[in-house]
Amino acid sequence: MSDNLFDILARGITDPAATAIETLSAERITYADLTARTGRMANALVALGVQPGDRVAAQVEKSVEAIILYLATVRAGAVFLPLNTGYTPTEIAYFIGDATPAIFVCDPARAEALASAAGSARLLTLGADGQGSLTDATDGQPQDFATVPRGADDLAALLYTSGTTGRSKGAMLTHGNLVSNTRALIQAWEYTARDVLIHALPIFHTHGLFVATNVTLFSGASMIFLPKFDVDRIFEDMSRATVLMGVPTFYTRLLQDDMLNAETTARMRLFISGSAPLLADTHREWRARTGHAILERYGMTETNMNASNPYHGDRVAGTVGMPLPGVEIIVTDPETGAELPQGEIGMIEVRGPNVFKGYWQMPEKTAAELRDNGFFITGDLGRIDDSGYLHIVGRGKDLIITGGYNVYPKEIETEIDALPGVTESAVIGLPHRDFGEGVTAVIVGPAPPSEAEVLSALEGRLAKFKLPKRVLFMDVLPRNTMGKVQKNLLHDQFGGLYD
Ligand code: ATP
Ligand code: MG
Repeated sequence: MSDNLFDILARGITDPAATAIETLSAERITYADLTARTGRMANALVALGVQPGDRVAAQVEKSVEAIILYLATVRAGAVFLPLNTGYTPTEIAYFIGDATPAIFVCDPARAEALASAAGSARLLTLGADGQGSLTDATDGQPQDFATVPRGADDLAALLYTSGTTGRSKGAMLTHGNLVSNTRALIQAWEYTARDVLIHALPIFHTHGLFVATNVTLFSGASMIFLPKFDVDRIFEDMSRATVLMGVPTFYTRLLQDDMLNAETTARMRLFISGSAPLLADTHREWRARTGHAILERYGMTETNMNASNPYHGDRVAGTVGMPLPGVEIIVTDPETGAELPQGEIGMIEVRGPNVFKGYWQMPEKTAAELRDNGFFITGDLGRIDDSGYLHIVGRGKDLIITGGYNVYPKEIETEIDALPGVTESAVIGLPHRDFGEGVTAVIVGPAPPSEAEVLSALEGRLAKFKLPKRVLFMDVLPRNTMGKVQKNLLHDQFGGLYD
């Protein structure tokens, strides 16, 4: 039996007439439609010359057709490569040059600007409205398509990392990676065919594409497909949905709306957060306003999801919970790689069927981060507490070494965030002649305390070497589309502070 993700999905469909996707224009796509439409598009891809193992790249707006393209690519045995809609033609040229896809699908409005970036890839178009040359090529194709058999170890997707810490890397994800993680999440979150997900995430990232979409489709559930995050729509949809998956900014923005209360969220069963750290304050405020404890989970492009707070049991603010079924998490000494005693801070390493096959055409990087024993060195630092919950203290790259001491930004940020008038903060290490790096706090808030007040509040709470040398203020922290704070931009902006 084939391990093609689509075969496994198709075998699990028990009610072909059930709605899989519902759009804003009230279009309902049933599971039978999904099978037929992916079949037609898979036939079109093959007719366009796509062979098993070929990459199919897409920089397209969120639409049902884009999801059909993902599934059709997988059905054809090819490898789906979604690209952030924010990427410029120069960035696209890099990804296409790196991944050498057979086909590149882009928005019709950008086709001209991207023509040269497409290189030798065949350029097709697909608009937010579902129209374009790809759709034209699909119309008239038969719906029957014999899904190309694939093994669990064959590639299903090539997903580039968000590029938060450097140039994006292509993570090679197999059918087995995606299917195993989908099953683990369905089990952990008790997902069923009765669930209705509010899908407001972008679909070029693991969160919206795999977590949200695969979990829904493999459960026979349905999703309300919103083109983008929209507070009013979400309040409207919460009256008939059961689950919301979001990045932390979704939750902070919903909290700013007076509509948020126990009544407006009464029908919802689960609020899930991930892709970036959820502030403990947000977790507490959400619970106070709605009675729901947000379930925070932890994952990354290379591994899919690794850990989740429990569905039953305490969802602890500021932690990402326990390893998912089948996933092992250890904390190691970043220098030696030796496993550390429980409770100590170190490098988070992950092993399981969810862990990717390696970086696309980067054998050295793969060898450096993926151990022979199967553990992937995530680059995130954390510790496991007495109750088994994983706490992420930040990225290894963000670790500050000042005067020879290690400073974990999260610890300082947590203290600063608790001060009155502060919304959030980012602590970074900037080049410093005497200390190597100088601990520097960047603070955002409606009425933040002064630099002197911040420092005196932290004195006595933090060891002297951890205290910021300077405190800076900004209106907002720079974030990417997934809500991740871009500390590299803060480094660029304030790098000369201690010169
Ligand atoms: P790059 O690897 O290119 O620098 P990136 O790591 O931001 O970019 P992604 O794979 O999109 O790219 O993000 C994964 C990272 O997001 C994790 O390694 C972790 O640092 C962060 N992350 C995800 N979920 C959480 C969470 N719940 N809490 C804290 N951090 C999280
Ligand atoms: Mg990363």
